[in-house]
Amino acid sequence: MRALQQDHARRRELEGLMFDAPERTRVLTIANQKGGVGKTSTTVNLAAALAQGGMKVLVIDVDPQGNASTALGIDHHAEVASMYEVLVESTPMAEVIQACPDIDNLWCAPATIDLSGAEIELVAMVARENRLRGAIRDLLAERESSGADRLDYVLIDCPPSLGLLTVNALVAAREVLIPIQCEYYALEGLTLLLRNIDLIRAHLNPELVVSTILLTMYDARTRLAAQVAQDVREHFPAETLETTIPRSVRISEAPSYGQTVLSYDPTSSGALAYRAAARELSTRPAV
Ligand code: ADP
Ligand code: MG
Repeated sequence: MRALQQDHARRRELEGLMFDAPERTRVLTIANQKGGVGKTSTTVNLAAALAQGGMKVLVIDVDPQGNASTALGIDHHAEVASMYEVLVESTPMAEVIQACPDIDNLWCAPATIDLSGAEIELVAMVARENRLRGAIRDLLAERESSGADRLDYVLIDCPPSLGLLTVNALVAAREVLIPIQCEYYALEGLTLLLRNIDLIRAHLNPELVVSTILLTMYDARTRLAAQVAQDVREHFPAETLETTIPRSVRISEAPSYGQTVLSYDPTSSGALAYRAAARELSTRPAV
């Protein structure tokens, strides 16, 4: 009942709401070396919610599994030009970007299965940790000089590992968004990620900050979820968004239709929660 009332209030509050664009392009990497915590769902649904709020948004898929590309309805079979060509062959990102078919102002640089080889091929390359950073910088510069609309948000979806693809994503971003699944003792796994982020900051990207933590798969009926949420908020009071993403069948169904939950079922609690999270992200100061 409470959840229903909250959805109703949210729907009225968020209906047709447009967000304020950030002063400059915000680049966020969605990272957590654990698989299945909601990285991809968060990337695509936040991106869609931001785009529906009037923002111009690019999703960069650097997970060889290509789940973000799938969820955005983007063609990413083996022959499609993808982030593999960008990272390994220095193809300009503008040449691989595709528009999301059912949401305006949302684009995706897809991942294909080729990307699984990039992790190894990158090892031998010069400035191997900086490939993605350079590609994004060139894309933004190219758009500016050609008079294309500025991108407001770039969201990077990572594989569940701390290999070179994730390192590239962490070097390319200014902000890290960590999704935390409210179903495990989640803080333990965070230590390793935070230690790696510290290393990247010390050696490769001094500007990097963990700006945002999002609690996902929250099931209000379980005591564990409430406990995990409380622990995370105690440790990261400034970073953790007020909005939590509920466990919702709609969120897990949407990708098999090549859709985000925002187009698959726009009034579902999952879609509303991602819109609320997007609004919160857009109103917090960019770091
Ligand atoms: P990751 O990218 O971290 O591996 P995913 O976003 O792919 O995680 O999520 C893992 C699985 O959980 C997927 O099957 C996804 O559909 C499902 N899932 C993600 N978020 C939710 C949610 N809020 N409610 C229910 N299922 C979810
Ligand atoms: Mg994923």
